[in-house]
Amino acid sequence: MHESGTTDGAAFLARCKAFEGREVDALVAPDPVNQAMIRHWVEAIGDTNPVYTDPEAAAASVHGEIIAPAVMLQAWTMPGLRGTARGPGDTNPQSQLLNLLDDAGFVGVVATDSEQEYARMLHLGDRITARSVIDEVSAEKRTALGVGHFITTRIDYTAADGELVGTQRWRILKFRPGTGRGTVNPPVAAEPEPEPEPPRRMPRPRPGTTLDNLFFFEGAMERRLLIQRCAACQVLRHPPQPRCDRCGAYDWDTVEACGRGTVYSFVVNHYPQVPAFDYPLPIGLIELEEGTRLVAQIVDCPIEEIAVGMAVEVTWLDDDPDLVVPAFRPAGSGS
Ligand SMILES: [Zn+2]
Repeated sequence: MHESGTTDGAAFLARCKAFEGREVDALVAPDPVNQAMIRHWVEAIGDTNPVYTDPEAAAASVHGEIIAPAVMLQAWTMPGLRGTARGPGDTNPQSQLLNLLDDAGFVGVVATDSEQEYARMLHLGDRITARSVIDEVSAEKRTALGVGHFITTRIDYTAADGELVGTQRWRILKFRPGTGRGTVNPPVAAEPEPEPEPPRRMPRPRPGTTLDNLFFFEGAMERRLLIQRCAACQVLRHPPQPRCDRCGAYDWDTVEACGRGTVYSFVVNHYPQVPAFDYPLPIGLIELEEGTRLVAQIVDCPIEEIAVGMAVEVTWLDDDPDLVVPAFRPAGSGS
């Protein structure tokens, strides 16, 4: 019944389910609920309700004072990029569970749903703590993205005095890439896969895949650079999206790019440094001959020689057995 071929399904599920009920390290908000973060949030969302930003209007409202938008609940305790990095030796139960699933081949991840309940509004000065418990690890499920396990986490948000202010149920799917419906070459389930070489360093962060962009990463696994095309008006588009901006049609297919293009723009990234990459890290906005542009790493080129307009061709970063991504090198440099 289990698809990995190398792991006994029931025993593996039992190892996953042993994490149910375990508490994840609590997150304490680095800052109290404050006007600056609220202001940035409502500006980004486009919510002009004065109860969030205008003390007089808030005082005259049913709340009597400034409140934070309820749906900001999770924002107060969100760790930054470094805070979320997960390593092989991580002792956090959630990281251990995710590593266990990674090791069994369920390296894909997608957030599937999030439900929040609010016990009271948050006010300026509230100091929020988030306590998470791994609620459930599902049996292996077959989904459009691939075979995988759903992980549900329950998060209780409390104020400084321990008062419960809200709860959240957060579900992700950890899946095996390439095993979803519509996969061109599904892996053969009966054949045990050879043990992969141990990665020489931390793997690249996984892309956030959706039903709209999965084709791009599945194509990359086959060293094919695919561009989404509107099935109605044939216009090409990237990044992938569900609907055509030009004619409004939802149907789409893909075309394979020839792999040639030019550097439309680029940056050389120095900070923040993520362990999976070497720095300085040149990142290009590549204009393909087909007309769409994509963001990709520039390789095999001294940084001082990278220039806007430089002709480039696609190559593939494939050190990682489960993730192949396109990169671009000077045209002709690979032959
Ligand atoms: Zn169209």
